[in-house]
Amino acid sequence: MKEFKKISILGSTGSIGLQSLEVIDLINDNYKINFLTANTKIDLLAKQVEKYHPVGVAISDEASYWEFKRKYNFDCKVLCGEEGVAEAAAYSENDIIIQALVGFSGVKPTLEAISNKIKIALANKETLVSAGKLITEAAKKQGVEIIAIDSEHSAILQCIIGEKIENIKKIVLTASGGPFFRTPFEDFKNLSVEEALNHPNWQMGNKITIDSATLMNKGFEVIEAHWLFGLKADQIEVIIHPQSIVHSFVHFVDSSVKAQLGLPDMKIPIAYALSYPNRIEFDFEQLDMSKIGTLEFYEPDLEKFRCLNLAYKAMNEGGDAPIVLNAANEIAVQAFLDYQIPFDQIPLIIELALENRQVQDVISIEDINNVDKETRIKTKEIIKNLRN
Ligand code: MG
Repeated sequence: MKEFKKISILGSTGSIGLQSLEVIDLINDNYKINFLTANTKIDLLAKQVEKYHPVGVAISDEASYWEFKRKYNFDCKVLCGEEGVAEAAAYSENDIIIQALVGFSGVKPTLEAISNKIKIALANKETLVSAGKLITEAAKKQGVEIIAIDSEHSAILQCIIGEKIENIKKIVLTASGGPFFRTPFEDFKNLSVEEALNHPNWQMGNKITIDSATLMNKGFEVIEAHWLFGLKADQIEVIIHPQSIVHSFVHFVDSSVKAQLGLPDMKIPIAYALSYPNRIEFDFEQLDMSKIGTLEFYEPDLEKFRCLNLAYKAMNEGGDAPIVLNAANEIAVQAFLDYQIPFDQIPLIIELALENRQVQDVISIEDINNVDKETRIKTKEIIKNLRN
C-alpha cells in the first residue's frame, strides 16, 4: 500500500499557503491534508475544503469563524481562534506542518507541534525572532527537524549539507534591496503604501513585503539564521543582490565559498522543505544564466535602512530585545499600511520601543507573551504621541 505523508498547512489562504498547495498538487499522490487554517479569508478556505477534503479547518479570527459556520456546512471539524490553530498544528496524525502564519501568532502552534514531535516546515520567521531559543531548544529535545521555507535559509541548508558547522567561517544572506534600494533617503518620508507594496522580485503578503522594503525582513532572517544554524552574529552578513538569483553564500575556513542559485520562485524552497534531504523532480522554469547576464552585489546602506541595524542590535542584546523588535515592527508596519505614519517613521518607532522598554528576563512562553503584549500597547502609545 502506498504511504501518504500527512500534512497540515497553517495559513493555507496566504501567499506561502497557496504556493504550498500548488507544490502539493504536483505531488498530490503522496500527500493527505489533515488541517487547513485561515484568518479571515473564509471563502477561499471553503474552496480549499471542497478540493482537498481535510480532516478539519481552523479559523483564527472569531467573527470569520462564525461566518464560516453560518455559510458553509462541510463534513469536517471547524476549530476556532488561536487555540484552534494550535490544535490543528499539534494534531497527532500530522507528519509535518507547513507553518505559514503571519507574525507572532506562529509561536504557540509551533511549540505545540514540536511537543507532539511533528516536523516543521517554517515560513514564519517571526516565530524564531521572538522565541528562537525556546523553539530550537524544544525541537532539539524532541528530536524535531525545523526546515525553513525561506529562499536564503534553504540556500544555506543546501550549501552546508555534508559539511561540519565548525568549518563554516561565515554566511552571507542576499537581499534584493526591495523597491527602495535606489531611492534617495530624503524621499523616504513621502513613499506611499502602494509603492512599498510593489516588490521588484517576489510576490508576497503585505506584511512581509513592507518588511522587505525596510530591510527588517533581512534583519529577521539574520536572527533566524542564528537560531537555525547555530551561528554567531559576526558570522552572519548581508549583501544586496537586486537580481535575487544567488539566494545566499557560505564561506568556509579554507576560503572556499558555496552558493545556491535559482529563479526567485518560492515553490522551489517549499518543495525542498518537503523533500529534504531528498529532491523531487519538478518542471519549474529553468534558470538560464545567459538570459540573466549580470549579477550585481552591493553593501547594504545601514544609514538608509536602519531596521537592519536595529535587528543586529536586538540580536546582540538578546533576551527580550528581539521580542520587542518584532512586536514593535508589527505594530509600526500595520500603522503604515493603515496610512497612519510615514514610511520613514517605522525604524524610529521600533528604536523608541527598544530604548524605552524595561528590560525583562524571558524564560518561558508566558514571559514571551507578556513582553509581546506590553510592547504592542507601548508601541501604539509611541505612535499616538508621534502623531500629536
Ligand atoms: Mg527570504
